[in-house]
Amino acid sequence: MAEVLVYVDHVDGAVRKPTLELLTLARRIGEPVAVHLGAGADTAAPVLAEHGAVKVLTADAPEFAEYLVVPKVDAVAAAYKAVSPVAVLFPSSAEGKEIAARLAVRIGSGIITDAIDLEAGDEGPVATQSVFAAAFTTKSRVTTGTPVITVKPNSAAVEAAPAAGAVEQLEVSFGEQATGTKVVSRTPRESTGRPELTEAAIVVSGGRGINGAENFPVIEALADSLGGAVGASRAAVDAGWYPHTNQVGQTGKSVSPQLYIAAGISGAIQHRAGMQTSKTIVAINKDEEAPIFELVDYGVVGDLFDVVPQLTEEVKAR
Ligand code: FAD
Repeated sequence: MAEVLVYVDHVDGAVRKPTLELLTLARRIGEPVAVHLGAGADTAAPVLAEHGAVKVLTADAPEFAEYLVVPKVDAVAAAYKAVSPVAVLFPSSAEGKEIAARLAVRIGSGIITDAIDLEAGDEGPVATQSVFAAAFTTKSRVTTGTPVITVKPNSAAVEAAPAAGAVEQLEVSFGEQATGTKVVSRTPRESTGRPELTEAAIVVSGGRGINGAENFPVIEALADSLGGAVGASRAAVDAGWYPHTNQVGQTGKSVSPQLYIAAGISGAIQHRAGMQTSKTIVAINKDEEAPIFELVDYGVVGDLFDVVPQLTEEVKAR
């Protein structure tokens, strides 16, 4: 059966959820072969096998930790040569997209970024994308070379499918450019204990209706009760009430969680662009004419300062 290369996003071998989603989608196209770079292959391999990887190609070298993406491109290119896959899949993270783009140039292939679904087609994998501020859904296919596709987090429900997952060492020789750019320092962000916004299954966002930074704990409390991440509209971010890293929308992050709760957000097209592909959308807004109600699954017309705390208490009580 045809093999599909899947780039593994991990932290010291702890495989991140978007990779498990990729393995699930990859199985629609062929047999997933995981490419794990850096430390932690022993930890990652059983998890990758549990989710359908027939093989885990791994390589570790100081270059992966010290330098930016080019050494990883060298490694994925080596895996590509070793496997001759029918497609190469990456998570749509900043790193995933950069490696994917560089790989596509190197192997002379077409690339599709930010897919939200993937299916097998007679002439190769077909990717679904949500485009033009989510006004259209398109289906595309790469027509040149081996498709290189990046897939947004939360695009598929993770399904286990135990496979052999035999670990094989990957021989990598680094090109001249591999060490061209070096990481000079890393400052970990202070952890909020909440999931990463783009990967969270639940996102609770606040907008201008929050009416001040001092009120954002109302949103945080609901997010925490649900184990979710906190998002914000640009109006809230521009007002300095919440960090830009949490902005959802065209000029912020694009999220696609199982549940998106928007409180005090009107639903401008630029905000929708970042959340419209969420599976279930709930809005709380005191204006029943607010455009956000056009796209919700459940809408609550009311003051968020009444509704959100009640919701939080209700969730906590369960
Ligand atoms: P508003 O539109 O002011 O809406 C506030 C809502 O809160 C209203 O509907 C009001 O009824 C409701 N409300 C007020 N008080 C309460 C209360 N107590 N209880 C319940 N409801 C209440 N926006 C983004 O969000 N993300 C982006 O990435 C983004 N990128 C942009 C890029 C460009 C090029 C441009 C031009 C704009 C962009 N915007 C973006 C801005 C966007 O157009 C809107 O201005 C913004 O989304 C509005 O934010 P908001 O919904 O929080 O505020």
